Amino acid sequence: MPEGDTVYRAARALDRALAGQVLTATDFRVPQLATVDLAGGTVLRTLSRGKHLLTRIDAGADTGGRSWTLHTHLKMEGSWHVYQPGQKWRRPVPDARLVLSTAERVAVGFSLGLVELVPRQHEHDLVGHLGPDLLGPDWDEEEALRRLLATPDRSVHESLLDQTCLAGIGNMYAAELCFTSGLHPRLPIGRVGNPARLVRRAKQMLEVNKERAVQSTTGDLRERERMWVYRRDKRPCRRCGTPIEVAMLGPAGRERASYWCPSCQPAPADLD
Ligand SMILES: [Zn+2]
Repeated sequence: MPEGDTVYRAARALDRALAGQVLTATDFRVPQLATVDLAGGTVLRTLSRGKHLLTRIDAGADTGGRSWTLHTHLKMEGSWHVYQPGQKWRRPVPDARLVLSTAERVAVGFSLGLVELVPRQHEHDLVGHLGPDLLGPDWDEEEALRRLLATPDRSVHESLLDQTCLAGIGNMYAAELCFTSGLHPRLPIGRVGNPARLVRRAKQMLEVNKERAVQSTTGDLRERERMWVYRRDKRPCRRCGTPIEVAMLGPAGRERASYWCPSCQPAPADLD
């Protein structure tokens, strides 16, 4: 699942390709928007809010001249690619959910988990529920901490994934942050000794990775060396050699795989 830094990079790539450009064609390949045509409209910009992508488009005068916000979400498998006109797509054509064309670029959204179009004045309804955005211009550490600690009995792992507390962390960074902070993923967030440090590490982890195509928390960019614990179950901990463990954690129906080193991240005695 794409994390906030991946979404940030996608927004930047779309913005570079489309901002200020007139759409020559649009193709919405989702049933609820199949008849929408924004050709003639002008793309103002694309930005990310947590894991949400917002593309602002002013429709052309001949399509009513309205101001729209196109909302897309990568969810599990989605990605945005930017091509030259006529260039072969790197993902299967049937996976395309949305195509935005200008005279010089073709932006294709593949396997998007969400595509919706709302009048600009309702943009806030799309992302207003999110907590402070770790990569946003209005990042607010104190507000993120306040939201995280409002449910002190919830596990660190689940708390970090809650986009209404702070926006941008997915399952990979949640696991890696627990490791680099020496916290068992099931430890209640209210019992974390220095939650501000945890949140600062989260921001730093995303900031470092937003600039590069390959994500790494270890600093090592080689394949298989990039993560401390994520998807490394049964393999030796990089610090102590203990086999990494994995378990499904979280509320019923929304469990996520969590990875940890039982030596570096010991379970508190009162956690069974
Ligand atoms: Zn270890």
